[in-house]
Amino acid sequence: MSKPTLSLDGKLAEFSPGQTILDVAREQGIDIPTLCYLKDATPTGACRICLVEVKGARTLVASCAMPAGNGMVVQTDTPEVRKSRRLNIELLLASGNHNCLTCEKNGDCKLQALAYAYGITDIRFSGQTQQYPAETDNPLIVRDFSRCILCGRCVQACNELQVNQAIGYGYRGAKAKIVTTGDRPYNDSDCVFCGQCVQVCPVGALTEKKAKGLGRSYEMTKIRTTCPYCGVGCQMWLHVKDGRIAKVTAVEDAQPNRGMLCVKGRFGYDFIHSPERLTTPLIKEDGEFRQASWDEALNLVATRLKAIKKKHGADAIAGVSCARSINEDSYNMQKLFRGVIGTNNIDHCART
Ligand code: SF4
Ligand code: SF4
Ligand code: SF4
Repeated sequence: MSKPTLSLDGKLAEFSPGQTILDVAREQGIDIPTLCYLKDATPTGACRICLVEVKGARTLVASCAMPAGNGMVVQTDTPEVRKSRRLNIELLLASGNHNCLTCEKNGDCKLQALAYAYGITDIRFSGQTQQYPAETDNPLIVRDFSRCILCGRCVQACNELQVNQAIGYGYRGAKAKIVTTGDRPYNDSDCVFCGQCVQVCPVGALTEKKAKGLGRSYEMTKIRTTCPYCGVGCQMWLHVKDGRIAKVTAVEDAQPNRGMLCVKGRFGYDFIHSPERLTTPLIKEDGEFRQASWDEALNLVATRLKAIKKKHGADAIAGVSCARSINEDSYNMQKLFRGVIGTNNIDHCART
């Protein structure tokens, strides 16, 4: 059976039932800007930036929340669409404190990028905005509600992606705000500090505290790596400047973590720069450790293992692999014990 189709900017596009206009447009390489849209979460249509014209509709529609329909005729970039998007960007800018020079997100902010793309040079609207003080009570996340555009991505990321259900919408009108239960600070709430809300916040309302002042996004080199904490193998980006990690984010669309991290992977990188870190193997002699080369240390271990096996048999030896090793290293460890040493005495500290 042939697939349903719609017309997108004059071109016919096939789609699968359940796809939204935005989904189809992105598949076709048509850029529709968004702020609140979050992949894999329920669309909210909150920001009204993805508005498009649908023939026969009385108003512009939010393409992220509108299911594609067979025979629809959609225009994504008309003067009316651009005018409406521009107005909504202006209203968002007017609703908070958007002094970019002092904002951690400067250079990596979706609102800032849209304001530039839509040629907004000054804000026509003024009025009272709710200026909640920034929450800085915890060591990991700064919440600055004066820059929050109430897109709701943090709520969706927390509730639908991480399923932590630590935050929701609170208050009404100009006082509206993202809150924990009882509007308590994060460190006195159900928040587990996975930092997913920070990763998805499109503006400077949620930022990594430890990254503050360490550099702008465009000064960072992004290095892809595997999280060192457990065998899951989450994919992450290290944001590095001058040899120091400023922050860690998850790689979007990469398995196995699909853009998510836990508190350890996202925030537990300080040990890397610890002056107490071991940089060479140590060999204990007469009760004291001394530094050794890798060759010397590995030769010593091999010699001792051979001697124990010869004297007591292979089952006198046992190995425990570390949960911080990647799966491939754990595989090699059991291969060494079973295939080379000849014992099944091999375990993993994360098994129980
Ligand atoms: S949130 Fe974005 S637009 Fe607002 S001050 Fe920060 S960089 Fe500028
Ligand atoms: S850090 Fe994680 S648990 Fe806490 S509010 Fe953000 S997404 Fe929810
Ligand atoms: S804190 Fe960020 S992600 Fe959450 S609603 Fe505000 S702007 Fe959106």
